Parts: sequence; C-alpha cells; structure tokens
Amino acid sequence: MEEHKDAFGDSMIFVPMIRDQQVTGLLSVQAKNSNQFTTYHQTVLELIAPYAASALENASLFSKIETLAITDELSGVYNRHHFNRTLKHEFERNQRYHRSLSLIIMDIDNFKEINDQYGHICGDAVINQYGTLFKANVRKSDIIARFGGDEFVVIMPETTAEQAKIVAEKFKSLSNDYQFEFQGKEIQITVSIGLAEVDQTSDLKPEDLIHKADFAMYQAKKRGRNQVYSY
Ligand code: GH3
Ligand code: MG
Repeated sequence: MEEHKDAFGDSMIFVPMIRDQQVTGLLSVQAKNSNQFTTYHQTVLELIAPYAASALENASLFSKIETLAITDELSGVYNRHHFNRTLKHEFERNQRYHRSLSLIIMDIDNFKEINDQYGHICGDAVINQYGTLFKANVRKSDIIARFGGDEFVVIMPETTAEQAKIVAEKFKSLSNDYQFEFQGKEIQITVSIGLAEVDQTSDLKPEDLIHKADFAMYQAKKRGRNQVYSY
C-alpha cells in the first residue's frame, strides 16, 4: 500500500484520451504535494488530450504500415524487398568487422504437383504454413524472407557455413516431421536447401552470395531433393 502511495503524488488529474468515442489512453499529471491543481489545469489537459490521442493513433498506424511494407502477405515472413535491403546492410557490416555471414535458400520439392493435385489454394496454404513453421524456428538474429514463388531465404549473421549447415538440417527435419493438412488430407512435403558463406578473402557482393546459395540448392535438387548442400 505504501509503495502504491509512493507511485502517485498527492495531487493528480486524469483525463481520458478519446478517439472515435473510444478511450485509447489516459493523460495524467501529478504533483508531490496536495492541492496543486485547479480546474484551469484540468481544462488545459482536456484540450491536449484529443491531440495526444490522435498522435498516438498515428504512431500506431505508422508502425503497422511499416510492418506491412516489409512483410510477405502469404507467408508472414519478410518480403524480398526487406531481404535485399538487409543482406546489403549485413554485407556492409561484414566488410567492416570481418565476421561470418551465411545464407540459406530453401525451395519446396515438387511444389507444382501440389498445385496440380490439390489446387492453387492448397499450394498457398502450404506456403503459409511453411512461413509460420520456419518463422517460429529461426533465431532472433536470423532474417527469414520469402524470396519468391516456393523459395525461402535465411540470412544468418555471425554464422559460419558449418553452423548454418546445422540450421539447414534442422529445417529439413522440421519439414519432414510436419504434416500439412488441407481439407482433411494429410500431405507430406520436403524442401531442398542450399547454403553458402561469405568468403572473407574475396570481394564478394550480395548477389554473388545469393548465386552461390542458389547453385548449392540446385545441387541438392540434382542429388535427389530433401537434402542440404553446402557450396
Ligand atoms: P522442384 O522440386 O524442382 O523445385 O519442383 P517444383 O515443382 O517445386 O518446381 P519449381 O520450384 O520450379 O516451381 C515452383 C512452382 O510454384 C511454380 C509455380 O506454379 C508455383 N508457385 C509460385 N508461387 C506460388 C504461389 O504464391 N502460390 C502457389 N500456390 N503456387 C506458387
Ligand atoms: Mg520448388
């Protein structure tokens, strides 16, 4: 109770912040001593409150728009635009600090067959579920994005190819263990994964790293799919 009392002053005014007839927040002014405020102070707060409510709403809308702008609608992971920007940024950091940086590319195996057999809506549901599954299983520092079509990419800062291989194998197992469900049918789907690491000794560009990981992914396809290949 004492603690509670200490958290507040002896004089207080609370004014609701109202937006579209809904209370969105509370403005409060407090003073340590008693009898510090008059109705004048209350009136001033009441005048400020709608502007504060509007500013809060704008900030929240802006943050939502920012998230939408970098998110892939279907899969819920980052979109290609954000991937490109982040990879460029990580390259710059990598050049300055000479840390490891790896990239994984995952492509769904025989995805056309899923579309052909169960329809495009089922294909979309698979991409959506993969997005949720992968997103829940990446580290906070890794950036997962949809590269396009049935391809996902993961940027792994501070990660060597050896460490990235462990992550890639984990993704492969996740896919093997996951049962996709569509209209009561269970569908088993696999992914082929390619990975590459930035070579500190060469003058590699972001697109070269993508090219290497993509090449590795095609090697995984060529060798029978549902596997990981390191460049
Ligand atoms: P592979 O094992 O060689 O990768 O075979 P694949 O059938 O998966 O072939 P590929 O990766 O080349 O083709 C991907 C297909 O994914 C082609 C396209 O019809 C389909 N696709 C691309 N984007 C979407 C999408 O947003 N939704 C759905 N349902 N299908 C998509
Ligand atoms: Mg594919």
